Amino acid sequence: MLEIKDLHKSFSDLKVLEGIDLNMDRGEVVVVIGPSGSGKSTLLRCINYLETPNSGQLQLGSLEVNLEEQDKEKIHQLRQKTAMVFQNYNLFKNKTALENITEALKVVKKMDSKQAEKAGYQLLSKVGLEDKADVYPASLSGGQKQRVGIARALATNPDLMLFDEPTSALDPELIGEVLNVIKDLAQEGMTMLIVTHEMDFAHDVADRIIFIDQGRIIESDTPQNIFSNPNHSRTNEFLSRIIS
Ligand code: ADP
Ligand code: MG
Repeated sequence: MLEIKDLHKSFSDLKVLEGIDLNMDRGEVVVVIGPSGSGKSTLLRCINYLETPNSGQLQLGSLEVNLEEQDKEKIHQLRQKTAMVFQNYNLFKNKTALENITEALKVVKKMDSKQAEKAGYQLLSKVGLEDKADVYPASLSGGQKQRVGIARALATNPDLMLFDEPTSALDPELIGEVLNVIKDLAQEGMTMLIVTHEMDFAHDVADRIIFIDQGRIIESDTPQNIFSNPNHSRTNEFLSRIIS
């Protein structure tokens, strides 16, 4: 359902992605691991055009995008089919948990206030936060904020969800509640591309793990093979640094 060919991205002289090829099936969960600065966030951000790629091809379902052309209508469609969950939640601070979600429903799905509110409550209950509908982000824990972030991302009914280190801003005791929501989505068949340093979680949830280093995919394999029998020494070195 997702096919990326030869994606390149530079920031002026700095080459960040140097020819990424990535295919994903519908319902597949792919976890991206790799050192800091290797281009993981940039890859996710290029997929929904939060960053403008320099070149490459992307196909998502029936939508084909030549990444060099920057066709406005295609970029708009691509953004509608994908949703990003950010490390720092990116919630609107002056909107309640419910309003953070209904905003997306009204703007993207063109729902009226009543419909949006009903759908918003359903999404909040999906992430276990129905009772926090009227609470502002400042009064939510990090784990709760991120669950609102996930509910908001789900609101647009995306074909592909992108998670950029969704738990790395959280205190350790709050990580589990967010990972559990993501695991539930995996069970429901959501297609997800997830950057994380939570290796136990990656092992459990991923159909496949890709290891990125210096803007290239070094290795793509099942969690079992990546963790117990990586093909590349760089994967091994990275894992031995991260797994204590
Ligand atoms: P990762 O998520 O793997 O840690 P990033 O994709 O965030 O890595 O960054 C890859 C490289 O691109 C880093 O060297 C980073 O400093 C650089 N970079 C990321 N975003 C920008 C930007 N907007 N402008 C300039 N350089 C950037
Ligand atoms: Mg990053």
